[in-house]
Amino acid sequence: MNKALANMPATIQIDGSQGEGGGQILRTALALSMITGQAFELINIRAGRKKPGLMRQHLVCVQASQQISQAYIEGAELHSQRLYFAPQHVQSGKYQFQIGSAGSTTLVLQTLLPALLLQDQPSELIVSGGTHNPLAPTADFIEHCFLPCLKKIGIDVDFKLEKAGFFPIGAGQIHITIHPWQQRHALDLRQCGQSPHIEAHAAVLNLAHDIAQRELATLDKKLKLDHQQQFFLNGISQGNTVYVRVEHEYHTQLFTALGEMRKSAEQIANHLAEQVKSYQSSKAVVDEYLADQLLLPLALGQGGEFTAQCISEHTRTQATMIEKFIDCEIEFIELDKSRFQVNVKV
Ligand code: ATP
Repeated sequence: MNKALANMPATIQIDGSQGEGGGQILRTALALSMITGQAFELINIRAGRKKPGLMRQHLVCVQASQQISQAYIEGAELHSQRLYFAPQHVQSGKYQFQIGSAGSTTLVLQTLLPALLLQDQPSELIVSGGTHNPLAPTADFIEHCFLPCLKKIGIDVDFKLEKAGFFPIGAGQIHITIHPWQQRHALDLRQCGQSPHIEAHAAVLNLAHDIAQRELATLDKKLKLDHQQQFFLNGISQGNTVYVRVEHEYHTQLFTALGEMRKSAEQIANHLAEQVKSYQSSKAVVDEYLADQLLLPLALGQGGEFTAQCISEHTRTQATMIEKFIDCEIEFIELDKSRFQVNVKV
């Protein structure tokens, strides 16, 4: 180890097999390490998964983090189950990252956003790869749900889906400008406010248009939509995506679905409608996914409170990781079976 590293505070040790045991532990460790300047050693990376270790999209998150923070790293290779990461200082600027597969571009954004928004100057990111991936936020979810929610706590990010990318080809592209976080506000999303306006939006890329039309018709039948729309995507891969926007007075929640081989448009839309219905009957403000994504921004700002439909193992693991690096307290209180209150105290 070189002299500069020897002077660094003790390395934080993280076991990647804890809790949910997935890629989130890595992304959160990278984000928090860049923010605090604290090095970490992560072992048993994605030990809970069928193909453990760093997959291509995780490796891009490591490489992108290294680039923006000039970090010293060990173990940044495909399938590696150990990573040492020691950041220097985070540099705002213009960056371009290519995942080179349909790996999720939004998860790269999730890794870099916290560190870049704490800089004095804006940053511009262009990330190429998948934009509509299963098990990750879609570009639509980021643009119409996650970022508008961050706006409430003072975070200002411009987001543009330039090209859509679906598995396996990918070749999508997102273009993001991250402005320095100036006014930090606490979040209060314990109540939704007045009854919702419900919209559905569906799109296909290089597939038959009736898929999107049938999804919208099914959603209308199930949810009695206030508005429905087909939208257009541009790109070379093939795919279908549909989302429902539940717009309450204080919060807009998005539910997304992707078309799948051997599943009809009606099946996809019916399943999506069930998700929306179970959210509505829960009376919680935030869904399972937004809940885990909000914890870190809240912990870095003025904290906040919100009600969530469910506290996943993923969310609990995220809370444990955040409390490991920064001084804050994250509390989950069960209000009833499908409504939890989350308090992030800073
Ligand atoms: P692994 O392959 O190890 O599971 P990963 O890196 O693919 O890891 P996860 O650790 O499962 O991913 O993290 C996925 C992230 O995507 C989480 O932040 C989660 O909230 C988000 N996510 C998953 N599904 C959705 C969805 N339907 N809508 C919005 N966000 C989602």
